[in-house]
Amino acid sequence: MKCLRCHNTDPTFFYKDHGSWYCRKCISFSRLDAGLHLQKHVYRSRKVSVRPKMKFAYTKAQKQIVQQILDGLRQKKDLFVYAATGAGKTEITYEAICMYLAEGKKVGFAISRRQVVLEITERLRQAFPSLSVVPVTKGYTDVIDGDIIVCTMHQLYRYPSTFDLLIYDEVDAFPFAGNEVLKQISLQSCKGQRLYLSATPDEENFKEIEKGSMKMVCLFERPHQHPLIVPQVSKGSWIAQIVWILFYCRQWVKDKKQILVFVPRKKDAERIAHLLTLLVRVKPIHSDTLDKDEIMEQFHHKELDVLVCTTLLERGITVPSVQVLVYHADHSVFTTASLIQIFGRVGRSFQDPEGRGICLCQTASDSIRGCIRQLQWMNRSARSAASR
Ligand SMILES: [Zn+2]
Repeated sequence: MKCLRCHNTDPTFFYKDHGSWYCRKCISFSRLDAGLHLQKHVYRSRKVSVRPKMKFAYTKAQKQIVQQILDGLRQKKDLFVYAATGAGKTEITYEAICMYLAEGKKVGFAISRRQVVLEITERLRQAFPSLSVVPVTKGYTDVIDGDIIVCTMHQLYRYPSTFDLLIYDEVDAFPFAGNEVLKQISLQSCKGQRLYLSATPDEENFKEIEKGSMKMVCLFERPHQHPLIVPQVSKGSWIAQIVWILFYCRQWVKDKKQILVFVPRKKDAERIAHLLTLLVRVKPIHSDTLDKDEIMEQFHHKELDVLVCTTLLERGITVPSVQVLVYHADHSVFTTASLIQIFGRVGRSFQDPEGRGICLCQTASDSIRGCIRQLQWMNRSARSAASR
C-alpha cells in the first residue's frame, strides 16, 4: 500500500474504514485512500510577456546570479540559491518568473511562514502590477488561482503536479525543514523545476547539493554593496540587559530609528513591551498575538517605534532603518541560523545601509559565535567576489 500524496508505505499509518484503506500520516490535508490519485484541479495558465518593475537595476553581482539561474533552469536543473539576507533574493527570481510566464507555464512561490507570504505577495504585486498575484494562506483561501500563486508550504496540497517553476523561500525554516509529509507534498506539486532560496542552508540542504541533485549559486553582496552588519556582543545579567534595552531604545528613537527587540519567550515580549511603554510607542508581537497584521501595518507606517517580538519575525520582514537588539541571545531558541536572520534585518535600505545590531547575553554561546563567524565569512566572500 502506498499513499500517493505523502508517499507513506508504513502499514501502521493505514486505517480501514468503509471498506477502504486510507493514510493517517497526511490526514490533516483531508482523507486520501491508499493507491488513489489526488483529484486534479486544472489551474489556468496563459502566455504573458511582462517585465518586472524594479526600484533599482540589478547590480553586477546580481546580474551574474540571474544569468546562472536562467542557464540552470533552461538545462532543466533544480537550483539552490545561497544568498545573504538583504541580497535581493526575491528580486533575482523575477527574470525566471518572466521566462516561465512567457511560455504559458505555471509559477508558484512557497514559503514557510504566513507573514512572509503576505510580504512577498505585496512585493510581487509592485513588481508585476499587470499580473494577478494571489496569496494562499490562512485567511486567504477564497481565491486560489492566479498568474503567480504565493502560498505557505501547507497550502501546496491544493496543487498536485501543477507548477512548472516552484520557488521555495527559506527551505531551512520551520515547519518545512525536517517535515517529510510537507516535503513530499511539495515535490508532488511541482512537475518542472525547483528553485530553492535560503540565507542559512542547513546540513540537509548541503547534503542534497553535494549529492549533485541540484546546483548551488551564491550571492553574498547586498545591492548597496555595504557589508552585512556583524553584531556587537554585550554581556551582563538579565537586569543589565533590560537596562540596556531601555537605554538603546530611547537613544535610537531620538535618532528617528525604528527598533526590533527579539526575545526568547512570549512572556518576555509582554513584559519588556510593558516596561518600554513608559518611553516609546511599542507593542509586543508573537504567535498568540491576535492582531498581527494590524501591528505590522502600524510598524510599517511608523506609528510604532519598537516591536518586541519572538523569532516569529526573524525572517522575511523588511523595514528600512531598523536597529536590532536581542535579549537573552544565549537562550537555546536562538540558533546560529536564527541569529543570522535576525541581524539580517539591519542595514537593508539604500538610504540607510548601516545600522546597529546588539547581542545581549550572559555568555557568548556557540550560536552567537557561529553567527559572527559566518557573517564575517560572507562579508569576506562578497569582497573577494567583487574584486575579481
Ligand atoms: Zn499520506
